Amino acid sequence: MRQGRTYLKKNDQVEVITGKDKGRVGKVLRVLHGKDKAVVERINMIKRHTKPQEMNQQGQIVEKEAPIHVSNLQLICPECTKTGRIGKKILDDGTKVRFCKDCGESIESKS
Ligand SMILES: [Zn+2]
Repeated sequence: MRQGRTYLKKNDQVEVITGKDKGRVGKVLRVLHGKDKAVVERINMIKRHTKPQEMNQQGQIVEKEAPIHVSNLQLICPECTKTGRIGKKILDDGTKVRFCKDCGESIESKS
């Protein structure tokens, strides 16, 4: 069952509003529906040790993004670059779109 609370989508620009990355901005790489979490580029980085693949190799430390709860994120309007005040509307053809209540622009990714 989808809860439908996650309004974020891949390629959205978001700002972190709480936690150690507060104030930082990044692009949504992946949304984990059902968990209400998202993976955001260069946000919530964790170090992970990889095991050596061969006997004479050393293990490496790689950094990767850990999922962050969507309640810690705020969608940024690409038009006016403000956060918050996001509305939803349903177009005549039934598609749901998110829009910015400040400038009225659609926030759906154009890519
Ligand atoms: Zn706007």
